Amino acid sequence: MDQEINYCLQCGNKMKDQFVFGQVRRVCPSCGYIHFRDPKVAAVIFIREDDHVLLVKRSLPPEQGKWALPAGYVNAGEDPAQAAIRETEEETGLKVEIVGLRDVVFNPPRPGYLFLGATIAIIYEARVIGGKLCAQDDVDDVDWFTHDNLPEIAFASTTKAIYHWLAEE
Ligand SMILES: [Zn+2]
Repeated sequence: MDQEINYCLQCGNKMKDQFVFGQVRRVCPSCGYIHFRDPKVAAVIFIREDDHVLLVKRSLPPEQGKWALPAGYVNAGEDPAQAAIRETEEETGLKVEIVGLRDVVFNPPRPGYLFLGATIAIIYEARVIGGKLCAQDDVDDVDWFTHDNLPEIAFASTTKAIYHWLAEE
């Protein structure tokens, strides 16, 4: 099993596998702590201007070198809408405001990649309210694309969002 914990986060005792709440989970025989493995969640931004959509070129794995919508992990305790705004500014230099929820997409985990990439992507629609377009953080390039000049796309979530966009125009 990928990255299971071996020692209790509460008391430090050795964990063991036990069937609880519908599946086998790591349970502490000493203090009763149950380790629930949570999905990773990404907040994603879809920005349209005229017939263009904003994409970023990924500089890191997974899907390094391919293009995706601006996105990043939602921190523990963080509003996903705020995470989307924060990540967009970190990656593209643009300040945006959310105008709606576009989709929620499941990215199935791939063998060996369980902890690289989010399994749940929340895709917001946004509009630019300030800033200056500039690739930064974990992206190599950022640009606007039309239907007929799309680059190689990363992730099921961006692929699905682009497919819907193509279908609506
Ligand atoms: Zn314990």
